[in-house]
Amino acid sequence: MTGKQKRNLIRARKIGEKSRQNDMFSNDIIHYIKTHTNIEEKKEADLFRFMRNINSCSRLGLFGQTADENTFIAAHTCKHKLCAVCNWRRSEIVRMKYFTFLKEDVLIKKTIKKGIEKIDKIEQKDIDFMHLTLTVPHKKGLFKGEKWYAHKLIEYYNSMRKEDFWKENVVGGEYGVELTKGKEGLHIHIHSLLLVKKSNKNRNKLHKNILIYWNKVTSEKGDKSTITEKRKDAILKGNELLKKSDLKKIKGTGSTIIGLNLLFVYSKKPLSDKDIWIENIKMYKHYINYKEGKLMRGAIMECIKYHFEPVAILDESGHLNVEFVAEVLPLIYGKPLYRKFGFLHGIKQLNVNYKEQTLLEEIVSIAENAIENLFVKRERYVAVDCRRIFVFDNKLVIKGNDPITILQSTTALGAANELIQIQISREMQKKNKPIEIENFPEMQNNMNFLCN
Ligand SMILES: [Zn+2]
Repeated sequence: MTGKQKRNLIRARKIGEKSRQNDMFSNDIIHYIKTHTNIEEKKEADLFRFMRNINSCSRLGLFGQTADENTFIAAHTCKHKLCAVCNWRRSEIVRMKYFTFLKEDVLIKKTIKKGIEKIDKIEQKDIDFMHLTLTVPHKKGLFKGEKWYAHKLIEYYNSMRKEDFWKENVVGGEYGVELTKGKEGLHIHIHSLLLVKKSNKNRNKLHKNILIYWNKVTSEKGDKSTITEKRKDAILKGNELLKKSDLKKIKGTGSTIIGLNLLFVYSKKPLSDKDIWIENIKMYKHYINYKEGKLMRGAIMECIKYHFEPVAILDESGHLNVEFVAEVLPLIYGKPLYRKFGFLHGIKQLNVNYKEQTLLEEIVSIAENAIENLFVKRERYVAVDCRRIFVFDNKLVIKGNDPITILQSTTALGAANELIQIQISREMQKKNKPIEIENFPEMQNNMNFLCN
């Protein structure tokens, strides 16, 4: 099997799994609505809209077929922020983009302003990648009296990036807002990847400045409190450049936890002579050098993976936390939770315009990555519900007895156009259906496909 075929099977397995996970989400919502009698009208409408989205997602997948092989090409998706399929797709797209971008030793940014092309360059040997996590205190789920404080977080982060200490050290980066559900209600925080100029103790210098700034903006107005000696000692432990006198201005009501790390991996064997043995997990901590391409890109993906799944929506049993979803849906609707800044801002090839991407554009972008040649003739193309896709013994299998839709065109581009027409007519039909629970059929054990 070629690498290309292997990658295609991984994608096919994923789209199958994720579209069946959407079915589970849908069932969980139906169950919730049926068992709760006093759901607010607005909440119920939001849940219905979400369900309608995920119920339409990847129902039309485009596959190439020969006598002995099925190949997954692309699927029509719903682009919802909480959709299982779409979150996976976003992660796939971002991964591909960053991998390609970071492969070069010199990072290049081309921008066109008033018709004039400008080129900026950064040599990877001159920077360190760091992962920054920013949180705020939120007793009883409230920060400065607000439950949805994401915009405050973003506002403070934007203002911090205008400070001199920041501009002198950080050349660019990107960030995402992540939401989880804690005991104290919504927990909203920022994960950010930073490109930091290489210098002696750059991490500690930056950490010190961020701590002082972030504590100040996140503390209550007129706060005269300070932090305990124990807390001071804990902070000093994490940064050898900090002195007790630096912590005089640290306020009790502000944030005191700043996560700032050079990218690293844990390894059973030392990967360099500088690795540090960590006794409690019995592993070596290895800080990654930009020359370690694969490790580096893996760690970067680990750092930005939260952007693809901005909301942790599963409960402990692996089911959808419907209550939480209902609470979060109106808050995230239409709100950008992801941004690039500094050097990365304006780099078109890293943009994730996934929301606007049509099926046709998606297929073109896949073709550009050489998975499928748009104009090469294949035996035939078919449209299949992706929930029917399984991978067994390294083969893509379409389960179920329902007939599959054979498309007329013999090129991927033509087949994609046909698929779009089918999608449009389906949407027209759906428009006439009233939104009520009877129109959302419950899926039984991932449907009849398994009975085959
Ligand atoms: Zn979707």
